[in-house]
Amino acid sequence: MTRPRAECGMDDDGGLWADCPAGALVAMVQASRTARRQRHIGRMAGPTIGLLLVLLWTGFVITRSPVDQISCADVIDRFFEFSDNQLDSELSGRISLHLDKCPECRHRYAMLLSGEDSR
Ligand SMILES: [Zn+2]
Repeated sequence: MTRPRAECGMDDDGGLWADCPAGALVAMVQASRTARRQRHIGRMAGPTIGLLLVLLWTGFVITRSPVDQISCADVIDRFFEFSDNQLDSELSGRISLHLDKCPECRHRYAMLLSGEDSR
């Protein structure tokens, strides 16, 4: 690759630096620094996006399950199995935790147990 004589830089003889206008070297150094930084940003983009996705997913899971990862509808659907001890311990634990925190479901469950299912 040969450079036109007017361009600042190294030729085969290494003799073109005298033609450099003032500030050209600084501009070249800055350009190469910028290029290096852009390559660095490119390398970091993958992990950063991955981390963002994990954070988004975590936020999604937390916000969509405000009461112990089980919705009121799910709890109500399982009232009969829950009261008959037909659920596995993990699910029935989540339901009783939900009943602890959710007055509406607790009320509905009490109604069901007293034979006044309002469904
Ligand atoms: Zn509820």
